[in-house]
Amino acid sequence: MNLGRSILRPYWAPGSGPGQGHLAQSTRIQEWENGVKALRLYWHCLDLGQQEEEETRNWLDELRQLLAQPPTQADLCVSNVPSDISEVFDMELRRCPITPQPMERYLDAIITKLGHSYSDLWKWTPLLVRCLEDSPIALAAKKENPLAEWGIALGLWAVVYAMNNKYIIWHESLHLYTAEDCYCRENPEGPTTCELPGCIMQYAPCEGKVAPWPFLCRKNLDHVRSYRPFA
Ligand SMILES: [Zn+2]
Ligand SMILES: [Zn+2]
Repeated sequence: MNLGRSILRPYWAPGSGPGQGHLAQSTRIQEWENGVKALRLYWHCLDLGQQEEEETRNWLDELRQLLAQPPTQADLCVSNVPSDISEVFDMELRRCPITPQPMERYLDAIITKLGHSYSDLWKWTPLLVRCLEDSPIALAAKKENPLAEWGIALGLWAVVYAMNNKYIIWHESLHLYTAEDCYCRENPEGPTTCELPGCIMQYAPCEGKVAPWPFLCRKNLDHVRSYRPFA
């Protein structure tokens, strides 16, 4: 599930004028132009046990290994949200109001509050949060979009609340690199809307339904391959 991608997090960098934001962005552009074409991703588990945490780490590492292969040959750099802010981050995530709202704005506002703790690089990096299905952010996501039964991608945010399913984590993560859904909203359970029946961007991807790597259709391969972190 994807609700589109905002241009950049406009709410980042509190107390720093647009100047600092531009500086961070130009640093990224420079880095990218110099050949460091890494797809960066921060991830965080909210109110989950050590087992789920380990599982998430392993699944994201598996995605990193797949993306490193042809035809993407992408360099995915995955890191956990810094531990010094994880406690206050958790507190803010738990306080998410379960009312129809632009959820992306709420999530961005959390980062605005925490912004001073982050490096410039962090400001432009997609973030995946995994949580329980009755967690306030999961309930808010489902309220915002009833089709978001297992997870949602909002701008630079992905929230996943499906348990025991690495494909949902991969699907939502790939949205963060501009992959689009390959299902019809009127008939989400129907065949994929692309040429690949086992496309990872199908509705409710799961074991047995997703093709082996490369599980991205042509359109989404193009999207991921042409992804730039600052556009
Ligand atoms: Zn999706
Ligand atoms: Zn597809």
